[in-house]
Amino acid sequence: MKKNQVQFQPGMSLMVFLDRYGSESQCREALAKVRWPGGFRCQDCGHTGHCHLRHRDVYQCNRCKRQVSLTSGTLFAQTKLPLRTWFLAIYLVTQHKNGISALSLRRQLGVSYNTAWLLKQKLMQAMVDRDSDFALGGIVQMDDAYWGGERHGGGTGRGSPGKAPFVAAVQCNGEGHPIAMRMDKVAGFRKKVLAAWAKRYLVPGSAVVSDGLNCFLGVAEADCTHVPMVTGGGPPSEGHPIFWWINTVLGNVKSAMHGTYHALRAKYLQRYLSEFCYRFNRRFDLAALVSRLIVAAVRTPPLTYRLATLDV
Ligand SMILES: [Zn+2]
Repeated sequence: MKKNQVQFQPGMSLMVFLDRYGSESQCREALAKVRWPGGFRCQDCGHTGHCHLRHRDVYQCNRCKRQVSLTSGTLFAQTKLPLRTWFLAIYLVTQHKNGISALSLRRQLGVSYNTAWLLKQKLMQAMVDRDSDFALGGIVQMDDAYWGGERHGGGTGRGSPGKAPFVAAVQCNGEGHPIAMRMDKVAGFRKKVLAAWAKRYLVPGSAVVSDGLNCFLGVAEADCTHVPMVTGGGPPSEGHPIFWWINTVLGNVKSAMHGTYHALRAKYLQRYLSEFCYRFNRRFDLAALVSRLIVAAVRTPPLTYRLATLDV
């Protein structure tokens, strides 16, 4: 799919969404289908015979009497919100190219700010988890990036205090077009840190293209080749064609995050980065993002407020 085809694809219309997930029973049915694709199966004994205890809204296994609710063990566990509110949140979060703030979610869902904020953090956590093992391969452009300040501005240089460092990596095909990306918060740009990152997130044998920053040599420890592109004076890498995508993507990420999230705390940065990557990596089929995030949410363990507010 060409770039402009990605931009102009219709995604899922609100009408189609409401036809599919507009009522509570439709949402319940969709959730049950994801959770038990072949019909109910007891998680303890594997038995399929069951009954639905309506007064407590739990499913009970006919053999071992184990009870489970439709949402237990998933991101939706213990929720006081109707599932259709959750699903509408999933729709809004996935169909907005630049993300949607908790403030907008609050308005559109008719819930409190705190509820909207937590809902948003939970859905972003599902995206973090879903892509936690997603590795890039082939030709990978990499750069060091920072949240909370201009990287090249004011002579402050790389890694100034108050900036949260993160790795940005874009996998490109032979024609130099981007296929997939990762952005991960790191402790700093040291060789050891980059080696650990590469072991987890790069397929062995990948070719990493970066500017000459020493820490990128660390990718060799993950059996990857490092191709330094030192571009001489001035801001490193900017303008060099080989870095066009990584710079474009980073520019888009930063302006989208500045535009949508006015006070994004570094503590939660990973979730916002993962949200951006999640959408980017699935951009060829916007409409499918809704059902895919529902699946991801079913597979993500519950996230309490306390857990949600720990460092990510
Ligand atoms: Zn059972």
